[in-house]
Amino acid sequence: MERSVSKMTKAVVIGGGLAGLATTALLLREGYEVHLVEQNEHLGGRAGTFELDGFRWDTGPSWYLMPDAMSHFFKLCGTSIDDHLDLVPLEPAYRVIDDHGEFIDVTSDIDAMAELFESREPGAGAKLRTYIDSATQVYNLAIDGFLYTNFTNFIPYLSPGMLRLLPKLLASLSTSLKVKVNTQFRDTKLRQILSYPAVFLSSDPSHTPALYHLMSHTDLVQGVSYPRGGFTAFIKALISLIDDAVLHLGTPVSAITTQGRNATGVQVGSEFIEADIVISCADQHHTETQLLPASLCAKPETSWKNKQPGLSTVLVLAGVKGEHTLLFPPTGTKISAKFSTAPPQNSRLQNPSRSPRPPQQIPMPHPKATRTSSSWSQYPPMSPLVTGPLTEKNLTWWAGSQ
Ligand SMILES: Cc1cc2nc3c(=O)[nH]c(=O)nc-3n(C[C@H](O)[C@H](O)[C@H](O)COP(=O)(O)OP(=O)(O)OC[C@H]3O[C@@H](n4cnc5c(N)ncnc54)[C@H](O)[C@@H]3O)c2cc1C
Repeated sequence: MERSVSKMTKAVVIGGGLAGLATTALLLREGYEVHLVEQNEHLGGRAGTFELDGFRWDTGPSWYLMPDAMSHFFKLCGTSIDDHLDLVPLEPAYRVIDDHGEFIDVTSDIDAMAELFESREPGAGAKLRTYIDSATQVYNLAIDGFLYTNFTNFIPYLSPGMLRLLPKLLASLSTSLKVKVNTQFRDTKLRQILSYPAVFLSSDPSHTPALYHLMSHTDLVQGVSYPRGGFTAFIKALISLIDDAVLHLGTPVSAITTQGRNATGVQVGSEFIEADIVISCADQHHTETQLLPASLCAKPETSWKNKQPGLSTVLVLAGVKGEHTLLFPPTGTKISAKFSTAPPQNSRLQNPSRSPRPPQQIPMPHPKATRTSSSWSQYPPMSPLVTGPLTEKNLTWWAGSQ
């Protein structure tokens, strides 16, 4: 459906990751002339891809979560997800392994999961059902009340559903996910399954508000899918929706220009691109400290000094057999850098064209950038490519040598 824009006509979107591509598609649908400005030569941002010897890895996201939100977006663009992607539900969704090699297969069959929880800890099956009911309730509220609003008025927050859940929401903001999970479950692995979603927020369960137990609705109720062809296929689907945009690739924005409180365009080197609106889909820290004048930032610059960067990652693109696999240390919930290795010599990847299973990427905490590091730029990216058999010795050497 074509719409017309009465006053503002030209938009600049900074960043061609998932957010920038989706924003561009929605602005085009509203009738804007859209200029998408991306510093890299390619689109996709963190949703990257890497190919070697006929095999392909997703270097960023590989779990397709929140299918309802994805479908909603494609519907807004006048199309359907089924016209663009072949989604393969992963069953089991993923496997959790500890350092003794003991594993649990996690599925979105709540009866099976309740049985599994019960088998590890008497009473935990019923508690899981209550936990998941609450996660679903809060997830639905978050989608209806927060995700699809532009925060221009408070009406959505005064709905009966929202007011009914307000005390629960406030309580779950004042306690951590770790406390919520640990007070209900004793078994370490059960705790890990319910706490690890904090990693999606680049956080630690002890720093994440309990509100985010809603994330368990996504893997334990909605389930995990994988787009055949990897997330590259998803990026291609988004790109197919922005044919009418003007693309500026290999073009870093150096400043958002402003007049009073309004954006007037962006500066790219010596070139100026004028616009009625500018939407930055780059990281907030970068936008506020590098692109905007200090007087227009949502947070004063000093407030960033007290913030810690989120979890950093060493990404090992390895040829291993099997499912999406989470490797946990004996206690805690951070995905561990210590793990049992895949078969070293003959670990050929499954070819994605023959199988829906993606080659494995193994994100691990960056050995030199943890929550105790205080600088946003202290640690440069580690070398992107190491080839060779995946052995614990190789990995230990590699992580230690950076
Ligand atoms: C290893 C890893 C695994 C992940 N796994 C999952 C998963 O399984 N499932 C899931 O749902 N999510 C996952 N995520 C999260 C997901 O990848 C991100 O949430 C998503 O890709 C972010 O998209 P974005 O558009 O907001 O940001 P980005 O992808 O970072 O895009 C921002 C873009 O802005 C560009 N940019 C920045 N500054 C400028 C500038 N000054 N001028 C021009 N361009 C600029 C950047 O180059 C980039 O292309 C994972 C992330 C990582 C890193």
